Amino acid sequence: MKKCPSCGYENPNNDIRCPECGSFYSKIIEAIEEIVSDEEKHSLRGRYQRIINAANKKAAFNEEWQAVKAGIDKQGWFVIFVIFVFVFWLIAIVL
Ligand SMILES: [Zn+2]
Repeated sequence: MKKCPSCGYENPNNDIRCPECGSFYSKIIEAIEEIVSDEEKHSLRGRYQRIINAANKKAAFNEEWQAVKAGIDKQGWFVIFVIFVFVFWLIAIVL
């Protein structure tokens, strides 16, 4: 029997979450859950969801694109540059 630290509900099962108020019994699980939701926020799916749910889709897309651009470091831009040059080089050979 676990007692909820938030509401005091006594849970007979071995759940990680209180069925009464939804708070976690373990601080570690809570921390993991927080990290996962943070990852979700920064994932492509999270961005896509925010754009889809936004009233002004164009503005939301611009905002997310700015965030993505800000997140790409020097090495990231170099990789993009190399890929771009490689593709260009392939096209030049074919033509
Ligand atoms: Zn509770």
